[in-house]
Amino acid sequence: MTTKAELAAVLVELADPAPVVPAPDWSKALCPQTDPEAFFPDPGGSPRDAKRICQRCEVRPECLAWAVATGQRHGVWGGMSERERRRLRRQFVGEADR
Ligand code: SF4
Repeated sequence: MTTKAELAAVLVELADPAPVVPAPDWSKALCPQTDPEAFFPDPGGSPRDAKRICQRCEVRPECLAWAVATGQRHGVWGGMSERERRRLRRQFVGEADR
């Protein structure tokens, strides 16, 4: 579950017309230590396993902010599926669903 504080941090970055969101320290990321394919499920596949891993990852807030700010379209990043990240962007910056 993404906290309100984490979302607020993302939204502050998105409010900037030229957001500068540093990439997280990937050396602390859990995903490379697991099954990377879980983070890019086939169409119709479940992102649940990947999202569960993200919940234990110490760079999750930074990962989510970076993924949203850089428009990562595919896969699970920061504990959110691509659909959830699109919804987040639409909700707060009005970007059309792509
Ligand atoms: S939050 Fe998830 S996708 Fe991001 S680095 Fe951590 S495990 Fe990987």
